[in-house]
Amino acid sequence: MSRFLSQRFAALEAYTPGEQPQDIQYVKLNTNESPFPPSPEVIAAVSAAQVAKLNLYPDPTCRVLKEKLAALCGLAPENVFISNGSDDILNFSFMAFCDESRPVAFPAISYGFYPVYADLYHLPYTAIPLRENFRLEPEDYCGLNRNVVIANPNAPTGRAISPTDVEKILASNPNHVVLIDEAYVDFGGESCRGLIPRYDNLLVCQTFSKSRSMAGGRLGFALGNADLIADLEKIKYSTNPYNINRLTLAAAEAAVDSNDYYVKNCLIIAENRAYTVAALSELGFETVPSVANFIFTRCGSIKGDDLYRRLKAKGVLVRHWNKPEISDYVRVTIGSREQMDIFLDRVRELLKEE
Ligand code: PMP
Repeated sequence: MSRFLSQRFAALEAYTPGEQPQDIQYVKLNTNESPFPPSPEVIAAVSAAQVAKLNLYPDPTCRVLKEKLAALCGLAPENVFISNGSDDILNFSFMAFCDESRPVAFPAISYGFYPVYADLYHLPYTAIPLRENFRLEPEDYCGLNRNVVIANPNAPTGRAISPTDVEKILASNPNHVVLIDEAYVDFGGESCRGLIPRYDNLLVCQTFSKSRSMAGGRLGFALGNADLIADLEKIKYSTNPYNINRLTLAAAEAAVDSNDYYVKNCLIIAENRAYTVAALSELGFETVPSVANFIFTRCGSIKGDDLYRRLKAKGVLVRHWNKPEISDYVRVTIGSREQMDIFLDRVRELLKEE
């Protein structure tokens, strides 16, 4: 820390992203990326002609992309906000909707960025414990008189609640924003975006990073009532109006046009998930039921941090957290069948070494 950093941030503990090693080739199952490349249309869209226009600013309104996403989601363009990854949307939402008198609540075990945003803006927050086997009980979020943020499916557990349960939370907190982070919804969850016409306090955020194979492009979007979206636009235009670069915009427009390609890939991930869970179960692992592109699993005989370390030594990266309630577990991204077979082979080797 320099002597110049504002005291406001002196105690802030930044978010630690998953490892992105650039040295040796790992089987990388630690940051929930897609094993599939972007669609051929996306690759073609990021053309030399687009690169040649990089001297010009991109469209700050993202008009074409908003229209395409609105059509895909059965909403109007005024219901769509585009941003630089869904982390940006979370950042803007904590900034826009929360303060001392409008505190926020989220699950105690969830996306590790939520408490970081709360700390960044000095917001009072409540971390609500999950129930047995990491189940999220909707009643725990009813009538809270606070803003609510829920990852659905939740991370790192992979468990989801239904839109009916989300509706209970919305109806019982009518004067607060309920943000449903649907980063992983396309792998088997059910989106609650259909509730938007009836609930002006619902904000849904999704990303192109997982199901649409564009983690490197940084594109997220939020869906909600037009007034909520206008609030987010106000924050965007007060920070960085050109936050989506021209190449990412072109790629994202083409990605929406090739939706069928991504739907097919998500089905393959769901098959690979079932395959991996079944194989791990035969090896004595206990896995939390997941509808996401990752699983949260523990081995009876090898501790979570050992499993993480020893798999890494064998060239397979998974994610582990040194947090008491979850330190037995590792989170494993579901990749291609080949990647999962390598992961399972390495696990079998480790079990033999025991
Ligand atoms: N929400 C959740 C629950 C996540 O796990 C992630 C990915 N780390 C994000 C949001 C952010 O994803 P991105 O910024 O790549 O859209």
